[in-house]
Amino acid sequence: MAFENIITTAFKTTYKDAINALLETTALTVPCQLNFNNTKSSECPNCYFNSVTKRSNGIYKVGGPQSFTNGVCPHCHGLGLKFDSATETVYLIPIWESRQFSKKYPVDIVDMLVQTVGKVSYIPSLNKATSIIIDTTLNSYMNNTYEKYDDPEPFGLGDTQYIINTWKKSG
Ligand SMILES: [Zn+2]
Repeated sequence: MAFENIITTAFKTTYKDAINALLETTALTVPCQLNFNNTKSSECPNCYFNSVTKRSNGIYKVGGPQSFTNGVCPHCHGLGLKFDSATETVYLIPIWESRQFSKKYPVDIVDMLVQTVGKVSYIPSLNKATSIIIDTTLNSYMNNTYEKYDDPEPFGLGDTQYIINTWKKSG
């Protein structure tokens, strides 16, 4: 077959280097904020939880990070609980142009979609995220919040993998 040797080791290295260069935070990536459902909570480490009132009892727990005496815990603001971090910033390449998408989507929704390309190390966070703000530097100008639309697609040649996510404009 004539095509057998087209994808050489050198080609793979070039491809990998090119994508790695693109994914450097100073290149084409933009900061994106992943939003998680922050339903997981644990008792505040700074005060005692009152299981009857379901709130902080307002007494400092010795060893906690923010000592207080006035009755309202400054660490949980009296809630008695601390929620897991609800957001994470990652650096992704947005693909706004649907002609460049990795898959075909129905014409009636394709204009509401955007794809992002990210490093494989982001996969756990991307899987956990329910929505994303693409390019947080534009936050004050426009609402770039998108919801997860399709399953993530890994791609790459050889041992190098990246992840493509598809998001749909929310609201
Ligand atoms: Zn507290």
